[in-house]
Amino acid sequence: RYKEKWAATAPRIPSTRLALQNFDMNYSLQFKDTWPSIRVSLLSEQKYGALVNNFADVDRVTQELELLNAVDFVSEASQKAQGLQQDSVAEQAEREESASREAPSECQAVKRAETPPPLSAPITSNIKCYTFPRGDVTRFRPARPDTLGILNYYLMDAASLLPVLALNVQPDDFVLDLCAAPGGKTLAILQTGFCGHLAANDVTVSRTKRLHQILNSYVPKQIRETVCVTSWDGRNWGELEGGTFHKVLVDVPCTTDRHSVMEEDNNIFSRRRSKERQMLPMLQLQLLMAGILATKPGGEVVYSTCSLSQLQNEYVIERAIEIAETEFNISTHVEDLSHFRTLFQDTFSFSSDCRLGELVLPHLTANFGPMYFCKLRRV
Ligand code: SAM
Repeated sequence: RYKEKWAATAPRIPSTRLALQNFDMNYSLQFKDTWPSIRVSLLSEQKYGALVNNFADVDRVTQELELLNAVDFVSEASQKAQGLQQDSVAEQAEREESASREAPSECQAVKRAETPPPLSAPITSNIKCYTFPRGDVTRFRPARPDTLGILNYYLMDAASLLPVLALNVQPDDFVLDLCAAPGGKTLAILQTGFCGHLAANDVTVSRTKRLHQILNSYVPKQIRETVCVTSWDGRNWGELEGGTFHKVLVDVPCTTDRHSVMEEDNNIFSRRRSKERQMLPMLQLQLLMAGILATKPGGEVVYSTCSLSQLQNEYVIERAIEIAETEFNISTHVEDLSHFRTLFQDTFSFSSDCRLGELVLPHLTANFGPMYFCKLRRV
């Protein structure tokens, strides 16, 4: 009897093609007319940012980067925030003055209520990250060690910094980075110089080694020794150290959309990883729940992915809020991060219709991301 041996003999479809087929099916519905331009950007060369290492010779590094015409997009946004703040204070004073001239006192109260809330300044000014302007696709040279052997900058997708900026680490905060390896965001958190305590965890031992390597290359011994690096399953963190941290970053494993359409190696769309891929939203939800449980009342959790998928982004947030309320009696509040769109629009291309949180879309003139981030405050 003829038996088809397709599993052994059928031509193998590259995982990158499977990824693209999957995205074409799902994202064309999600993004409609904009999907073709996001798609072409995903398939084009990604842009990087140079995160300045504040533990190296900062003046020298910033001078070198500025000579290349790169711009520190964090300080640019911070200046923009200050400008907008001053404008809104001036506008408010003007409105109150004209109201007191023209209107009776009840109307003044109405006018005050109409005034938009002042733009909060969420930018941790100690973090410096240089990018080339929109449309400029110059590459940075690999980082070099300074005289003490410390590397001067760390090359990363500049959009990866946004979840760290949203975390808004304040002096003496206890911070947990639940899925930390290889360590780009841990390094950015350390650049604030604010952590009272930093715990960096990742379940994969080999990736935790990479985190140690990054800390060794960028951070002086006396500081890196204060970072508590662990290799636990983050899903259990809430049971181990619940209600402890002021700030928690939950940068979960995801379909890493850009990697999945470009690299065959370690691709989550390979057939043998299909079960793992299907289980991702569940794992993401469990990790976010652990992050919420690890946060002190009043503390904040930032959830992030480098995927465009609503199933891995907004849906995980919605489900976590619901479970925290019903199963743990914990109320959480989604923080408004829309000012990020205003402040960083010169550097990144943001989605204008993300229901919860913010999404950076790959764009040919600003080819960063995808990066989704959403901030929850534990009430
Ligand atoms: N935050 C990192 C950075 O900026 O360099 C990238 C993190 S990567 C997107 C997700 C990480 O989650 C992977 O390193 C993976 O090993 C880790 N991970 C997967 N399952 C986990 C679990 N159950 N607990 C903790 N970490 C986990």
